[in-house]
Amino acid sequence: MEKKNAREMDFTNYLKEYPDQTGYFGEFGGAYLPPELIPAFKEVNEAYQTICHSARFISELRRIRKEFQGRPTPVYHCERLSKSLGTTQIYLKREDLNHTGAHKLNHCMGEGLLAKYMGKKKLIAETGAGQHGVALATAAAFFGLECEIHMGEVDIAKQAPNVARMKLLGAKVVPVSHGLKTLKEAVDSAFQAYLADHENSIYCIGSVVGPHPFPAMVRDFQMVVGKEAREQFLEMTGYLPDAVVAAVGGGSNAMGIFSGFLADPVKIYGVEPMGTGHELGQHAASMTYGSKGIMHGFESMMLKDDMGEPAPVYSVASGLDYPSVGPEHAFLNQIGRVKYDYVMDDEAIDAFFALSRLEGIIPAIESSHALAYAIKLAKTENPGFVLVNLSGRGDKDMDFVLENYGDRL
Ligand SMILES: *Cc1c(COP(=O)(O)O)cnc(C)c1O
Repeated sequence: MEKKNAREMDFTNYLKEYPDQTGYFGEFGGAYLPPELIPAFKEVNEAYQTICHSARFISELRRIRKEFQGRPTPVYHCERLSKSLGTTQIYLKREDLNHTGAHKLNHCMGEGLLAKYMGKKKLIAETGAGQHGVALATAAAFFGLECEIHMGEVDIAKQAPNVARMKLLGAKVVPVSHGLKTLKEAVDSAFQAYLADHENSIYCIGSVVGPHPFPAMVRDFQMVVGKEAREQFLEMTGYLPDAVVAAVGGGSNAMGIFSGFLADPVKIYGVEPMGTGHELGQHAASMTYGSKGIMHGFESMMLKDDMGEPAPVYSVASGLDYPSVGPEHAFLNQIGRVKYDYVMDDEAIDAFFALSRLEGIIPAIESSHALAYAIKLAKTENPGFVLVNLSGRGDKDMDFVLENYGDRL
């Protein structure tokens, strides 16, 4: 395939042209599935391709976003934080104010509505830290669907509040007790359950990852973030931002906000977690240190161990510790439209304290990575107006931060 360069590319119709029919963004993406699951993903893809053009589906999703989720979420100018930095002006897209406290509900409500239109009775997924599980359980409760969340026993023990939330919302939490009893085993277990019952259920992926059509579909459901933010920013300031910044785990909140600005003369930055250091196992910087490969049903950049298997990863933000990244990010990196860079655990924690103290907003540690990068830009160059996607609120992280970093207060 001919390699493209962002400077020669016209992004006006980009979102319609990518991915292609088979789910590729350039050389990344696709659907690598066991033969038994090919019909199930084909059914989801066909249903989505039809439904996403249906006026009824679109207007129902709009109503849900407004009345249930509380959209649009505001854009906020951080005056005190900006003043402490000099001339850079930092703005936040407040996804922390979306119902359930993060951007994840944007795609979970879309997936739930799709399930309902397809006549499915059950939503199935895995969860690591429980954030995706809680958002999906919320969608299931809203639509009156069953919900089955697979979760490693180690994670269940660590994430008691999220397990309680899922149960209150009516979800069945399935403990996974083999192997390391964490996310990887939970993925396998959820896939098995889906394989056994794909007539009645739909597998709901929690980011812009997985086999086609999920990277495209989850991006489409998150696009509302970028669309709102662009209009709001123009209305507030009369200008477009100079730079847009988001944290990248799988990459859904980032694709959401990036999509609004790809066709504009705006610098775009994706921020990966470099954890405690640059050695394999100390970080989850799949773009910075990964290589091309296939895992979890799609082709992208990934961190591999000696055997070529997904490598162990770490980040202080459990929502960012994924050994790969959405295929669209791998593409946007390759063509040079988005710059991917990183911050360390420590820098994210400093940003967490700064935003809490200076603006009265306690951010998720995931979102603190994006903010930390904006602060770093402000100190090293003069980036002008910077719009940061504040993907979630930090209530879930408060105890952990005080226990481990309380001496920095
Ligand atoms: C899950 C999560 C993330 C990371 O997921 P993406 O798909 O990369 O957006 C980021 N921020 C918050 C608050 C999360 O819950």
